[in-house]
Amino acid sequence: MAGLAPDIQEIVRKDIPLAPYTSFGIGGPADLYAEPKTIEQLEALVTEADKNHIPYYILGGGSNTLFSDKGFRGIVIRPQFKKISTTETPTEASIVAEAGATIAQLIQAAAKSDLSGIEVWVGLPGTIGGAVRGNAGAGGVEIKDMLSSATILDLKQRKIMELSNADLELEYRHSTLKDKPHLIVLSATFHFDKKLPAQEQQLLMKDVLQKRHATQPKGKSAGCAFKNGTDPLTHTIISAGKLIDECGLKGTRVGGIEISTIHGNFLQNTGNATQQDVLDTIALIKKTVKTQKNIDLHEEIQIVPE
Ligand SMILES: Cc1cc2nc3c(=O)[nH]c(=O)nc-3n(C[C@H](O)[C@H](O)[C@H](O)COP(=O)(O)OP(=O)(O)OC[C@H]3O[C@@H](n4cnc5c(N)ncnc54)[C@H](O)[C@@H]3O)c2cc1C
Repeated sequence: MAGLAPDIQEIVRKDIPLAPYTSFGIGGPADLYAEPKTIEQLEALVTEADKNHIPYYILGGGSNTLFSDKGFRGIVIRPQFKKISTTETPTEASIVAEAGATIAQLIQAAAKSDLSGIEVWVGLPGTIGGAVRGNAGAGGVEIKDMLSSATILDLKQRKIMELSNADLELEYRHSTLKDKPHLIVLSATFHFDKKLPAQEQQLLMKDVLQKRHATQPKGKSAGCAFKNGTDPLTHTIISAGKLIDECGLKGTRVGGIEISTIHGNFLQNTGNATQQDVLDTIALIKKTVKTQKNIDLHEEIQIVPE
C-alpha cells in the first residue's frame, strides 16, 4: 500500500486480531486493517488495494462472518461512516443510512420520526452494508421490503452508481452483491409509508426482543449458520433449525462448537472454537440432514479463507 496518501496511510494498521470484530469471536490477525471514516477514504483504500493486488475484505458488524484462525492475508476494511439522514414530505418519507451505520441506529432514527415498518428488526445485529448485501430480515420484513436504492462503489468500473431495489436482485438472504464482490455498499435509502408513535414502537420492540431472547441463544455465534432448506418434492421451505433439531443434532459438540440447544441453526463458540471446528460442524450437519431428510443445506454465514 505504498502509493497511499499520507492521511490514508495513517489509518492502516498491521497485524490486527480479527476475533474481537466478529460476533463468533473467531479469527487471527489481518496483515492490514483500516477503519475509513469517510467514503473517500474507503475509495482510496480499496482502489489502492485493488491496484496492488492486495486482497481486501469489507467488514461490517462482523455478525455474519467467520474468519480463519490464521487471520487474513490482505487488508480488512471496516467502514466507519455512519451518517443517517431523514427526509419527510407530506406524501413521502425516506432515510439514507451510510454503510457503517448499524441496523439498530437505523431503527432509532426511524422511531425518532415516528416512521414505522422496521421495528421488527430490533435485535438484528450488523451494519447497513452487511444487511443490504445479504438482504437481512426479521419478523417478516426484509431489506427488500424497505429499500429504495443503494449507492454502490463499483471497483471494476471505478465509479459510484445508484442501484435500484430491482437492480440489486434481492431475494431470501441474497443480492447481486454476493455474486459481485467488486460492488461495495456506500449507503442505502429506505422508504417508509407508515407512521406509528415512537412510544408504541417501543412497546412493540420490547415484545420482539422478548421473543428473540426466548428463541435464540446468547453468547458467541454468527446467527443462523444455514439458510432455510427446500423440500425437493414439494418445493416448500423448511426451517434449517427445525431440520437440525429433527435430526437430533441439538447439543452436539465438535471441538469448541456446540449446536445450540435453544436454536439448532445457531453454532455457539463455547470458548476456544476454531474456524475448523465450525467447518467440521457445518459438514456434519449437512451430511446428517442430507442422509436423514434428503435436503441440501447451504451456508448463510460468510466463510473467509486465510
Ligand atoms: C445473534 C445474531 C442474530 C442474528 N439474527 C439475524 C436475523 O434475524 N436476520 C438476519 O437476516 N440475520 C441475522 N443475523 C446475521 C447477521 O446479523 C446479518 O447477516 C447481518 O446483516 C450481517 O451484517 P454485518 O454488518 O454484521 O455483516 P458482516 O458479517 O460484517 O459481513 C457480512 C458480509 O457482508 C459484506 N459486507 C459488509 N459490509 C459491506 C459493504 N459496505 N458493502 C459490501 N459488502 C459488505 C462482508 O464482506 C461479508 O461478506 C444474526 C446474527 C447474530 C450474531
